[in-house]
Amino acid sequence: LESLDVEGIRQQFPILQREFDGQQVVYLDNAATTQTPDPVVDAMSDYYRQYNANVHRGIHHLSQEASIAYEEAHDRVAEFINADGREEVIFTKNTTESENLLAYSWGLNELEPGDEIVLTEMEHHASLVTWQQIGKRTGADVKYIRIDDSGRLDMDHARDLITDDTEIVSAVHVSNTLGTVNPVGELTDLAHEHGALSFIDGAQAVPNRPVDVEEIGADFYAFSGHKMAGPTGIGVLYGKQELLEDMEPYLYGGGMIRKVTFEESTWGELPWKFEPGTPPIAEAVGLHAAVDWLEDIGMDRIRAHEQELAAYAYDRLDAEGDVEIYGPEAGSDRGGLVSFNLEGVHAHDLTSILNDHTVAVRAGDHCTQPLHDKLGVPASTRASFYVYNTREEVDKLVAALDDARQLFA
Ligand code: PMP
Repeated sequence: LESLDVEGIRQQFPILQREFDGQQVVYLDNAATTQTPDPVVDAMSDYYRQYNANVHRGIHHLSQEASIAYEEAHDRVAEFINADGREEVIFTKNTTESENLLAYSWGLNELEPGDEIVLTEMEHHASLVTWQQIGKRTGADVKYIRIDDSGRLDMDHARDLITDDTEIVSAVHVSNTLGTVNPVGELTDLAHEHGALSFIDGAQAVPNRPVDVEEIGADFYAFSGHKMAGPTGIGVLYGKQELLEDMEPYLYGGGMIRKVTFEESTWGELPWKFEPGTPPIAEAVGLHAAVDWLEDIGMDRIRAHEQELAAYAYDRLDAEGDVEIYGPEAGSDRGGLVSFNLEGVHAHDLTSILNDHTVAVRAGDHCTQPLHDKLGVPASTRASFYVYNTREEVDKLVAALDDARQLFA
């Protein structure tokens, strides 16, 4: 693989030139949100300047242009993840809303006592809390596939846990805490062998690697625009068309109906049936531009760049001797992030020291509290990489650890 022109890429992100106290920002908080390149910002500003109007095919020119752009954004996303077409791509607010859409529309209607929902111990709260609540409301049990000491899923346990009582297997594609890349195709096959559905949380996968929903075989798949060089306020729920056809919407209103009388309503076509009200139009335009931008660079190269940086960060941190790193060793089943703790220093203190060096990382439980309980730590510090990050930035992170040792350890 040809390596990236990182300098050229960085020039499309004015925010990366920002300085605090005379030091240029080192942005390593990409698993929380990525920065937005000029072409994406320009596409959105062009929308507001040139063809802002409500969609749903108004008669006037501006609405027609906005409607076409909004619809084409669905087509572009469908192509990007290899879905069959726009019918399978629902725009939501974010991954969290995508998960809730599925849980309310499908889960509340289909699940009953005796049914089982199988999750993994490394689920983000977006799916863990959602399925936990749906379990409580329907009487379905929630079970968790264990992780082993290396931070990978125990697939023998998965095979024990997924049975004919399982109705859905919900798994994170790439863990936002451990970096583990899970065998989501295998989990989906296991679900299907037992007549269950699969839902994959791809919030940390779609931004960073080629994702083909057909190859995975997933019934449902979710991700967020703001983690893939796109805007906030837009996310995606992919679903197989025949499943979406059978599902009841859980949000109602304008734009999603076929016919309404004072007594009854019927629903419109996919995907609009699940997108009532005025949708995120500028954001859809931005997401379209972000997909174009990512594919121009190439998802294979993006993955290679991030894996290389994560491996470098892993090795450098590991060599320090007093750093505990969570998740698998750097390799082909690790994504572009590293969560760790420095011995004797709380993650929040460390992160604040790093901020003194304008190194932006995240401290906390990363919305995986039960996983942190299992790891036996209340919090960790997470450095997460994207296309514009460099080895020099990793070096700055590692160099700043000394200050933390002097102050706290
Ligand atoms: N799942 C995973 C694995 C994530 O990393 C995140 C974001 N931290 C989410 C879900 C939730 O994404 P959002 O906040 O965009 O809904």
